Amino acid sequence: MQYKRSLLKYILVYAALVLSGFLGYSICFTLATHNAQQNTAVLPSNWLLLAGLSIVYWFVAWRSYNKPQPKAQADAQADLERLKLALIVANQGLWDWDLTKQYDIYFSSTYCNNLGYSQAEFGSSLQDWKNRLLPEERELLLSNAMRFMHEGDGDYDSTYRMQHKNGSYRWIRSRGSLIKDATGTPIRFIGIAHDITEQRGTEERLKQARAVFESTHEGVLITDSKNTIVHINPAFSHITGYTAEEVLGKTPSMFKSGRHSRDFYKALWNSLKTTDEWSGEIWNRRKSGEILPQYQTIRLIRDENGLVSHNVAVFSDISLLKDSQSELNYLAHYDPLTGLANRTQLYERLNITLQTLTNEGKNGSAFLIDLDHFKSINESLGHSVGDQVLQAIAERINAIIDQKHCTLSRIGGDEFVVICQDTGTPAEAALVAQALIKASKQPFIIENKELFISASVGICLFPRSAKSVEDIMRNADSALSKAKASGRDTFAFYSSEMTEQAFQRISIGSELRAALETQGLMLYYQPVYAMGGLTLVGCEALVRWNHPERGLVSPGEFIPIAEEIGLISAIDEWVLQRACEQMHQWQKQSIQLGFVAVNLSSRSLSKKELATTVADTLKRSGVKPQYLELEVTESAVMEDPDRADATLKELRALGVRLAIDDFGTGYSSLSRLKSLPVHKLKIDQSFIRNLPSDSEDSAIVRAILMLGKSIGLEVQAEGIETAEQMHFLQELDCPLGQGYWFGRPMPAHDFSKLINSNFQQP
Ligand code: C2E
Ligand code: MG
Ligand code: MG
Repeated sequence: MQYKRSLLKYILVYAALVLSGFLGYSICFTLATHNAQQNTAVLPSNWLLLAGLSIVYWFVAWRSYNKPQPKAQADAQADLERLKLALIVANQGLWDWDLTKQYDIYFSSTYCNNLGYSQAEFGSSLQDWKNRLLPEERELLLSNAMRFMHEGDGDYDSTYRMQHKNGSYRWIRSRGSLIKDATGTPIRFIGIAHDITEQRGTEERLKQARAVFESTHEGVLITDSKNTIVHINPAFSHITGYTAEEVLGKTPSMFKSGRHSRDFYKALWNSLKTTDEWSGEIWNRRKSGEILPQYQTIRLIRDENGLVSHNVAVFSDISLLKDSQSELNYLAHYDPLTGLANRTQLYERLNITLQTLTNEGKNGSAFLIDLDHFKSINESLGHSVGDQVLQAIAERINAIIDQKHCTLSRIGGDEFVVICQDTGTPAEAALVAQALIKASKQPFIIENKELFISASVGICLFPRSAKSVEDIMRNADSALSKAKASGRDTFAFYSSEMTEQAFQRISIGSELRAALETQGLMLYYQPVYAMGGLTLVGCEALVRWNHPERGLVSPGEFIPIAEEIGLISAIDEWVLQRACEQMHQWQKQSIQLGFVAVNLSSRSLSKKELATTVADTLKRSGVKPQYLELEVTESAVMEDPDRADATLKELRALGVRLAIDDFGTGYSSLSRLKSLPVHKLKIDQSFIRNLPSDSEDSAIVRAILMLGKSIGLEVQAEGIETAEQMHFLQELDCPLGQGYWFGRPMPAHDFSKLINSNFQQP
């Protein structure tokens, strides 16, 4: 273009010269017509001159045309080219408003193309521009541009929408400046314009994403590829209690609750590795330490090269959901009025208890309690009072039952059920039932009124009398009907014999209690002999009940009842006290008896304060510990061997002697036996009874004797009734013996006589 223009310049100059040459020639020719003679010679030489001058002109023009341009000018040209290219590459349109021409504006082809037009289609006036603006923005934009031209300072920067040829609107960012003349009058307004529709879309989306990020109720946590926390949102802080400063730069493991196994986290990372995503329930911890159940989705973000750049975790706090779930669960299993377990929960518990007891070969009991005439309280005093009675009775029953082994439920209306795991005999169950009835009989003060009520109780022992939950409930219900039929305010078992037996035991129990308090019990003493020299070495104290009507009742009859009704420990204590007092008396009479043996029940053995009781008794009676022997049965030890071991150690530390009674019947292991801190094994009388004829019993007795010898324990044979048995045992080197052959259990004064005669014997 530039080159064409300069060539045109030369042609035009040449044309002017030729024209002026012709003009001059015409004048010369006119003058020459006045003097034709002279001018005929001039004419060819003029043409030659003109041709010469043309040659010279074109030679100079040619030189000048081909002459290299000065460097600065070439550079400026190149810069201009570059600028043009840059504008094209950057997709920047150029506009140039010549203010001297009012409304003429140059719009570059890129400018027009960006809006889908060619330059010719777009036009080149202010109106062409204005027409394509969004109508709502048109006036404002125009007045902004005018104001800028008036004020004219700084740079013009405006973002607006213009209509594309296809009808859509594009976002355009236009920036420019005003060029002024020497007087400060604006003469040109020039700038560039760029289609920012795409960028604007991205910005919009980012803005929206940020708004979501900031305002969502779900916690968001973003970590980088090294699992370092780089971003959290306000909801995160709200839910967890942590501020951004407290968590940024740390790893999410700081929220771990410790409630998930390593396998859980392994599975989580595996899922992320294979699918780039994991979602599920996870338990974390709030800053307060409280457990935070969350539903969380973790997603991996990868860069262009497929490498993990970030992890984004979005979670919602589901603790409320959990709470309402547990509330629903609560309502499904508990009675809202009393807070007790309801029928559903009772059946679940009963099922578990039944299975446990069946596996352990033990019995428990279910008590179905029904308040007598409760209906009349509701009808006469209203349901509110009735509800209060039910709440009060629930509290009372809960207060008296053994919380460790019994549970209370309300199965509807005025019906309650107590399940006890450790009351497996009719007598034990009857005692609990009596206590329940007694508790309900205490007057209630409700709304300043004193109310009296009673209860009937149906009992079912299980698995003894029922092998399924349904059977237990049905049997308890029919037992309850029996209790009601026999006048209410009482209890009944499913089977009538059991009810009878229970009542009998209860009456024996109360008589026994009275006997213990009124010196109705007494001690008999049975001698123990050293088998070698047949010398009296000690005695065993055996309790007797001197019943006013029945005479002497043997312990075999009343000790099991005493155990059932919880009286055995009191009896043992009484026996211990009495035996020690007696021993002290003998010692005062200078009778040197080696020991007095006292039996302890398994209940006493399991009492924590046993050693203290023994120590106190010894102290009170003035007997030295080495004169007291305590007998515990092998089966009592095996009930809870570790506990027994600990108690026996305590007792041994006191200095008392310890013996395993009825040895051979309790299945104790040799290793256990070896570690027990006892002095003596008492061979159970069942192995002695058939000696010496029974070869098996002989072998057992022999084995026990050898065992005792090898682990350094004394051995004493019980129940020696005949001389044969005695000789046989003597031959086996059995060190100690006890039995009718030596002497039956006898009252203290008889025993005193026996000792005296014994010691008088040489
Ligand atoms: P045990 O401790 O094994 O006592 C020995 C039992 O065998 C005594 O019965 C005794 O009278 C009986 N006996 C002794 N020699 C012979 C004999 O030659 N032949 C036969 N057939 N029997 C003999 P008892 O006094 O009726 O006591 C029975 C069980 O009652 C005792 O067995 C003991 O386990 C328990 N007992 C007795 N007194 C007490 C006590 O004060 N507290 C506790 N917890 N239990 C006691
Ligand atoms: Mg004994
Ligand atoms: Mg015995």
